[in-house]
Amino acid sequence: MRTLLNANDIAKLGCNDCAGCSECCRGMGDSILLDAYDIYMLQAVTGQVFSQLVQDKISLHVEEGLILPALKMQEDTDACGFLSREGRCSIHSHRPGLCRLFPLGRNYDEKGLRYFLLEDACKAGNRTKVKIKKWLETGQLPRYERFLTEWHGLRKDIQKRIMEQESDEYMRKANVIFLETFYQTPYDTEQSFYEQFDMRLKSEKFAGICPQ
Ligand code: SF4
Ligand code: SF4
Repeated sequence: MRTLLNANDIAKLGCNDCAGCSECCRGMGDSILLDAYDIYMLQAVTGQVFSQLVQDKISLHVEEGLILPALKMQEDTDACGFLSREGRCSIHSHRPGLCRLFPLGRNYDEKGLRYFLLEDACKAGNRTKVKIKKWLETGQLPRYERFLTEWHGLRKDIQKRIMEQESDEYMRKANVIFLETFYQTPYDTEQSFYEQFDMRLKSEKFAGICPQ
């Protein structure tokens, strides 16, 4: 059974700043899924909105009927499009949540969001102990964790509705509105993400497919 950890716990995560290694930025298929906050951060660092990012940096992945954007591995290199020639992340300070997390996973249950170590996932030897909170390098962590829990619930809710309704029309509409609401409509990156997320969540349009 895996050990579940909180942000204040310590785990063997330190990897000497990934010196000489970029293993987890390569060959990842479409497994590095992006949430609404990731898109806000990518827009802030690249100046590109979703419709531009999806041209080469993002692919679309379908999970239980719901379309979810993911980082795209490039055809020629099978590496993330943000990995530099030197093997470093070119958007390090704004990298997506799953990149910050690795080699941790997220677990959601009645106790909320907790973390677990993906044993042997990181290729670095002699990993050092680091507080999870520090490892994640994310500002306003309690607010971010609240968003992640909400986002997880939201995704599961829409996926359940898609599966239960067994209607192609609902699935199409739910995907169009979900993508438009949280991904395609540009964010104001000068303003707080969380307020914009809350407003989008409460919007009439979104309530039409997923009443909150
Ligand atoms: S496998 Fe570990 S050391 Fe290598 S890039 Fe990923 S986190 Fe860094
Ligand atoms: S965004 Fe950065 S850390 Fe994440 S996979 Fe791409 S290069 Fe690696």
